[in-house]
Amino acid sequence: MKRTILLNPGPINVTDRVRDAQLRGDLCHREVEFSDLMEGIRKKLLQAFDIESDYSAILISGSGTAALEMAISSCLSPGRSLLVIQNGVYGDRIAKMADVYGFKKHGISYPWGTPPVLDDVESALKENPDIEVVAIVHHETTTGLLNPLGEVSQLARRFGKKVVVDCISSLAGDTLDFNNWPIDIAVGTANKCVQGLPGVSFVLVKKNDLDRLGRIPPRSLYFNLAGHHTAQEKGDTLFTPAIQAHYALDAALDELIEETVANRIIRHRESAEFLRQGFAKIGLQLMIPDGHRSNCLTSIYLPNGLTYTKLHDDLKNAGFVIYAGQGKLSDKIFRIANMGDIRKEEFAELLELLEKICTQHRG
Ligand SMILES: *Cc1c(COP(=O)(O)O)cnc(C)c1O
Repeated sequence: MKRTILLNPGPINVTDRVRDAQLRGDLCHREVEFSDLMEGIRKKLLQAFDIESDYSAILISGSGTAALEMAISSCLSPGRSLLVIQNGVYGDRIAKMADVYGFKKHGISYPWGTPPVLDDVESALKENPDIEVVAIVHHETTTGLLNPLGEVSQLARRFGKKVVVDCISSLAGDTLDFNNWPIDIAVGTANKCVQGLPGVSFVLVKKNDLDRLGRIPPRSLYFNLAGHHTAQEKGDTLFTPAIQAHYALDAALDELIEETVANRIIRHRESAEFLRQGFAKIGLQLMIPDGHRSNCLTSIYLPNGLTYTKLHDDLKNAGFVIYAGQGKLSDKIFRIANMGDIRKEEFAELLELLEKICTQHRG
């Protein structure tokens, strides 16, 4: 049977090795086998990104938003405020979380797809000494825009601020320079470029920020970062984890370490370049200008008069699942992610289909 190709930004197509890992067997999370599995995953995460000496990994069962909520709700000392850079759905999501937790926050907002202006960030940092933490999304999956995380994190560091980054859709797909970018807390998930399955996500925390985080009173029972860290350091889990998703993540990390993060980033970049050359040949217009695009997703304007539903259904009938634009972009763009275990022939087949549909549409 021909497999369905997932061109949505997660969950992604996985290898048989990752899928089969779910069948390793029934397991109680209070047994030593689970402690070993968890310890292995936490170690391999740091090993894959070569950050073992400076960071600690904390796992949480749930989608990427669970890890994000754990990081955001746990990162701010009482009385301080959060600076949120917003230029898409996911930056807006961080701002919403800050509101849910009653945080004092400063938002710097831009239209979706517009990169932040560093001078604006600097002014906000200068004018608001109450800011303790700067939150930014690395790859804004809303549009495929890659935000200037290096510059923003270095600016934040100059002002003595902590940096939290949602790198859920960029980790292992776009470059994250943990050595030179002062990132205190990074949020990721199993089922995007890490190539695991949904159900478990994680937060990477600078070891030298753990004391500060441990002093912040818990604001949530489930999403208590310091609480999970303390438990996981002892080989314990606070609650019942998604065991089978952990099995899959363990296998996915073995694959990532074998491929190496550097080569996986190159693979994503090359896939995106191959697709974008194809899109140009078909005459499709891309939303984000060259130089600002992530390696992992492309936002494409819908050709005049072609509806998303028609395009989506035609491609789905042929075995390819694309992704709609969100909110006000829903009738303007469609999105094609190139994450996961997809072969070049499959991308080539997609381009052929897309060309056929566009040619037919033009009449
Ligand atoms: C996918 C994604 C998330 C999390 O989405 P979930 O559905 O909770 O896994 C968060 N931020 C970004 C930038 C994403 O791409």
